[in-house]
Amino acid sequence: MNSTLSILLKAFPHPVSGEQIAMSNGLSRTAVWKQIQSLQKLGLKIEGKQNSGYRLLEWPDLLLPEIMAYYRRGQLGHPVYWQHELASTNTTAKELARQGAAHGTLVVSESQTAGRGRRGRSWLSPPSEGIFASLILRPAIPTRRVPLLTLATGVALAEALQSFGLREAWLKWPNDIWVGTRKLAGILSEFSGELDAMDFVVVGMGINMHQTEFPPEIAHSATSFLQETGQRINRAQLLSRALAELERVLPLLEQTDVTPLFAAWQKHDRLLGQEVCVFETVGTHYIGRALGLDESGALRVALPDGTERLVLAGDVSIRLPNHT
Ligand code: ATP
Repeated sequence: MNSTLSILLKAFPHPVSGEQIAMSNGLSRTAVWKQIQSLQKLGLKIEGKQNSGYRLLEWPDLLLPEIMAYYRRGQLGHPVYWQHELASTNTTAKELARQGAAHGTLVVSESQTAGRGRRGRSWLSPPSEGIFASLILRPAIPTRRVPLLTLATGVALAEALQSFGLREAWLKWPNDIWVGTRKLAGILSEFSGELDAMDFVVVGMGINMHQTEFPPEIAHSATSFLQETGQRINRAQLLSRALAELERVLPLLEQTDVTPLFAAWQKHDRLLGQEVCVFETVGTHYIGRALGLDESGALRVALPDGTERLVLAGDVSIRLPNHT
């Protein structure tokens, strides 16, 4: 941890003398100077004046542990493992979990070079434009409830996005946040353990925040918080809020009756009542009407012949008018 940063954040926008910083964190003046230099290298705007000391010129929009700690006191999100760039936060989180990282540990990076979605699909993760975070959880739930964890994280994210002014944050079963018909965020849960004894779950989140444009292959299907609201909000603040919401929702999963979680999901369910097209295995699909979740977290779909099918895993798209 860079203790100098914590002090500058608390004092923001006022300066703190080098001497005061050195005294507060028990470092030499030279060590403080070194910490300032490393922060400046990361892009933080810090002014140093001989008579007043050091001052943050603007509130940093990075996911650094000190900034996360400024916003977050709860159990989820402690400790924070930060890297400027990672191949995939989920991959690193799984490695740390295997080495024994505690429940609540958060892995974040400013960009990913090999961000992943479901079934090995890639998740575009440009530097400092999105939130790339993976949470290590060791919840007291049976393995069959892992899909519910993805749903709970979706609910937490939707609530957090709404609290920052994104009214139209919808959940698209099983793992996406949509605005209209565009994807703003995706969730990827991966677990390790036996059927009845779970070791850990890593819940990854990729959230588009400041992008103003996307590459052609997803330009029609992706959106960002900035594009939707015109607001460039602090990423650490939003992520902290999402963790706080998840901390509130998580206990619902540990109860025998998970109806309250489903009720929370239903409030944001983008597919409910919609005509959908379900692709379960390559090359085959069927059409039906989405009816919400069953108790395992699967999607219930009413078929035209009056029967019902459960979608456990698969791609579901909304069937727009004019489609055959
Ligand atoms: P679908 O997109 O059909 O709902 P999915 O929910 O399984 O599938 P994921 O596996 O969660 O999708 O995400 C990977 C897909 O999302 C990629 O194949 C790509 O189409 C799209 N994608 C990749 N990066 C982004 C991004 N930053 N924002 C929005 N969409 C993205």
